[in-house]
Amino acid sequence: MTSHITLPSPSNDQTYMTVSALEGGHIDIPVGRFLEGAPKSERNIVPAMAFLLTHSKTGTKLVFDLGLRKNIETFPTVIQKNIRDIMPVRVDQDVSDSLIKGGVNPISDIPYVILSHLHFDHIGDASLFPNSTFIIGGGSRKLLKDPYPQNPNSGFHIDCVPNDGRTRFLDDSDFSTTIGDFPRAYDFFNDGSLYIIDAHGHLDGHINVLARTSPTGGWIYLGGDTCHDLRQFEGGGFACERNEKGEVIYCAYSDIHAAGVHLDRVKGLRKMKEDSISTLSGNGKALKKLEADPENSHLETPAMMNAIYYEKVRISSPDLEEINIALRRLFSLGFLKCAQYLFRRYPILKSYSKYLVVIERKHN
Ligand SMILES: [Zn+2]
Repeated sequence: MTSHITLPSPSNDQTYMTVSALEGGHIDIPVGRFLEGAPKSERNIVPAMAFLLTHSKTGTKLVFDLGLRKNIETFPTVIQKNIRDIMPVRVDQDVSDSLIKGGVNPISDIPYVILSHLHFDHIGDASLFPNSTFIIGGGSRKLLKDPYPQNPNSGFHIDCVPNDGRTRFLDDSDFSTTIGDFPRAYDFFNDGSLYIIDAHGHLDGHINVLARTSPTGGWIYLGGDTCHDLRQFEGGGFACERNEKGEVIYCAYSDIHAAGVHLDRVKGLRKMKEDSISTLSGNGKALKKLEADPENSHLETPAMMNAIYYEKVRISSPDLEEINIALRRLFSLGFLKCAQYLFRRYPILKSYSKYLVVIERKHN
């Protein structure tokens, strides 16, 4: 791996994506299922985040991931059992609700939904997006070959993506370019604004998004389960349960080696110029900057101002849980635009372990 990662410099008339975080429910996960060596009792409540991305020139909107759904009784039986026994969920507001709260109509305004992968906390409810084209990794075909309910033991419902011709499975030929350390990327709008990244390792068909967030050099990386815990980003391993014979009995990573290779590539993004990168670790310096950052003069509404103010009071220590709490409260307010503002302005809030890594790079 090179010592410095370079991403393409912006062109004169560079297009980019505006990114907003969307609330899509919360899931309570046993950390030891993902992070090697974590105590059995350790749990973490994480937001099932999704993102609205809007193209700067055409205004085309797409949603990356759909979080959880409200009606969990429509999940396959094994998923319902999993939710009941292992990973409880809470969905006060789903992605469709979040969009509506932000003034975006999920029925008419979203031409594309990109799903990072087909796990139940990422697929939401496709029926709420009746006019969108769904884009998923080609490896997902394998998971839908013998789906629920035809196969009662499958964790993948036949309706988890539209089966009326609106689902596009990406092929090898789509990943025709490279970017950073990623050997397989798809320049979605063919203008360098958004790349779909082949993220093979966690689940068949896993894809991520790397998008520009400014015309001058900001980027965001949406990892969708590239890792499940901050500590994996900092050297912690992927958990793999084995029996006495050494055989794998449970592993959240279908190809654990590939998952590691992919995570290393994502980590490589942090090798960009130090002053331009926000890491996942939430160091004290970044948080201090957040607290000291003065004014809310850019805010558009008093409601947003309250939320920002709230954030300022809550985030007082370099502790991921504090950030979790603050984000949960922020999202529970449903301030789509506010989240967008925060994500643009405060790098530390972009550094959120299960779902994304963000880098900001200034060219001057
Ligand atoms: Zn997953």
